[in-house]
Amino acid sequence: MATRPSFPAKLATAPGAAPGRPTSATTRPAAAPAPVAAARADFGALRARLVRRLAAAGVQSPAVLQAMGTVERDRFVDSALVAQAYEDTSLPIGLGQTISKPTVVARMCELMLGADLAREGRPARVLEIGTGCGYQAAVLSLLAREVYSIERLRGLHEKARENLRPFRLANVHLLFGDGMAGYAKGAPYAAIIAAAGGEAVPQSWLDQLAVGGRLVAPVAGQGGQQALVVIDRTAQGLRQQQLEAVHFVPLKSGIA
Ligand code: SAH
Repeated sequence: MATRPSFPAKLATAPGAAPGRPTSATTRPAAAPAPVAAARADFGALRARLVRRLAAAGVQSPAVLQAMGTVERDRFVDSALVAQAYEDTSLPIGLGQTISKPTVVARMCELMLGADLAREGRPARVLEIGTGCGYQAAVLSLLAREVYSIERLRGLHEKARENLRPFRLANVHLLFGDGMAGYAKGAPYAAIIAAAGGEAVPQSWLDQLAVGGRLVAPVAGQGGQQALVVIDRTAQGLRQQQLEAVHFVPLKSGIA
């Protein structure tokens, strides 16, 4: 069962936010120690290089490229890993989970913008299954009007809240709960993006997809090999496409 935010839930006032934190931590990024600050100065150039690589890898959407060039991925990984933050690699984020590769994040976002509903403008409401460290939620916040992101591991839900707090993204709603049930309160969604892969797409996700909406999820086929699956809800029913092979962490039930 998801923890319900008050709507609209602002990140800085999200339910369960730790009380008594220094004001600086809640209003702006904490001042970084000198070596980190020096490294951070170079991150803009590294992000620009990442964007060029994404474009070379086939990402075409200017909105996606811009979002990927804006969100500071280095702020979402452990300080020991910041040097790799702008490489096209997945990285550990704790509790056995990983932040997805930038090419995969960009690809899923681009597929999301291919939803019929997204052709008319920014998708209204998007549900992300698997908040992890919060990076993709931040990218989505620049592409959709409202982002609901649900995580089943409390430790990561809290980490994502910490990571996202300095960005003050009022349109990101972090939820703690089992995303297998989706999040009915925010439905119907223009898009649902899963960052964890199961053997099938839960019926709840399909039920919560708007007509003209699109689901993008890794799904394991026979032999356990995952592929990215896109399901569009049209006025005539569901239309499914299977795309390239991917490697996501498993979709699990329940909370922990
Ligand atoms: N988008 C994330 C990627 C996180 S990895 C990022 O940018 O960091 C996928 C996440 O899905 C993991 O944190 C895992 O705990 C979570 N997950 C797996 N099954 C889930 C479920 N049923 N409900 C919610 N989250 C789930």
